[in-house]
Amino acid sequence: MDFNLSSEQVLMRDASRRMVARVIAPELARHDADQPLPKAVLLTIFKAIAALGLTAARLPPDAGGSRLSMLDYGLMFEAIPPAIGLSLVSQEACIARLYAECNAEQRQRFLPPLIAGSALGCTGSTEPDAGSDPRGIRTRVTQDGDTLVLNGRKMWITNVSMCDLIIVTCLDCRSGQSGGKRVGVVKVVVERKDSPFEAREIDTIGLRQGLLGEAVFDNCRVPVRNLIDNNAGGTDVLKATWQVNRPLLGLQAVHLAQCAYDIALEYARTRRQFDDVIGGHQLVQKNLSDIVTAVTTSRLLCYHALSLIDSGAPAAGAAAMAKRHAQNACREAVWQAMNILGAMGLSTEARMEQLYRDSRMLAVPDGTNEILALIHGRELTGIDAFRRTQPRA
Ligand SMILES: Cc1cc2nc3c(=O)[nH]c(=O)nc-3n(C[C@H](O)[C@H](O)[C@H](O)COP(=O)(O)OP(=O)(O)OC[C@H]3O[C@@H](n4cnc5c(N)ncnc54)[C@H](O)[C@@H]3O)c2cc1C
Repeated sequence: MDFNLSSEQVLMRDASRRMVARVIAPELARHDADQPLPKAVLLTIFKAIAALGLTAARLPPDAGGSRLSMLDYGLMFEAIPPAIGLSLVSQEACIARLYAECNAEQRQRFLPPLIAGSALGCTGSTEPDAGSDPRGIRTRVTQDGDTLVLNGRKMWITNVSMCDLIIVTCLDCRSGQSGGKRVGVVKVVVERKDSPFEAREIDTIGLRQGLLGEAVFDNCRVPVRNLIDNNAGGTDVLKATWQVNRPLLGLQAVHLAQCAYDIALEYARTRRQFDDVIGGHQLVQKNLSDIVTAVTTSRLLCYHALSLIDSGAPAAGAAAMAKRHAQNACREAVWQAMNILGAMGLSTEARMEQLYRDSRMLAVPDGTNEILALIHGRELTGIDAFRRTQPRA
């Protein structure tokens, strides 16, 4: 077991850090911390991300991808601030899904602008009444000649307010399939320019420069050629998609806790109380030690899950464990770092309160902590706890 990064991995990680310092950090600093970034700015950032191959990390080069190992992707991803990182997770998952499930003509039409970072994509599964349990979705697709007609609502969708394209998961109610009755679930690619729909931002506690929104499809008409037929192969790409997102989000928690630690360490070395720098007091040192322990254990669990995925071993439990641990441990670490700054930790000036609010956001997407515990528990026991409880009135 070798815990050292290879020289190539160090180069990749450093290239990502340099891109963040050169492009992303200045843009985040230049814009209101409480408002979503303007789309033009987001696309400027995405072009820089695309230049490093991160928009299509798991696609092969002949499809415009960079085919990184998921561990290498994670090492580069960890440097990206979460307001942008969540947007990238959404974009990259959208690209991976399109590659895995679309036919050749659809791939050709949809993928190039998304991979280049000149268009914004997202995937819409969650609805007002369908969150952790996707079986509750109500969005319907019917067919009128050569046109698909979508009706329904998608909520809590990253990127949706400004997206150019969304993959919508819906109930297949096309006439002729089963007399208009539900026959299953299909996905439809909705291109905003051809099939306009209403979307709006949702205000949240954190990650306020990112995009999280709601979309309403009210007789939204989409050409039938945008129905995803699931025939393209590439299921390996798709299988990896959802498992990979969890350790990636864990690494976003690591990013926030590392930022909090850096601020707290600097403060502890300079702030004086009781005739000493506070970093000389034993309990402050203990708090710093706790924070670094949280960051290190979280980082290692995330790297471990990504490397399991790379090896092809079962990784659902490890991926769930990594995200849940990282989110909990790093949120607590940010809290402790805040304490080291005393009252200053509560001020907007010190940026700690933003880190705390941002870290809270990571508890929900790609599996709440409870759902992740159940996924891990299912792997440990072989028993599916999700389906054991009978629905009650
Ligand atoms: C920042 C962010 C980005 C997101 N991006 C996207 C996106 O791009 N696309 C998309 O489709 N969705 C996205 N989502 C939605 C996200 O996937 C859902 O919010 C998530 O699946 C939880 O659903 P819910 O919020 O409806 O909570 P619910 O499912 O209603 O859960 C409510 C509470 O009940 C608990 N609970 C539910 N079932 C069980 C159970 N069986 N056992 C124990 N506890 C249970 C949950 O843990 C939670 O605490 C995003 C959400 C956030 C916050």
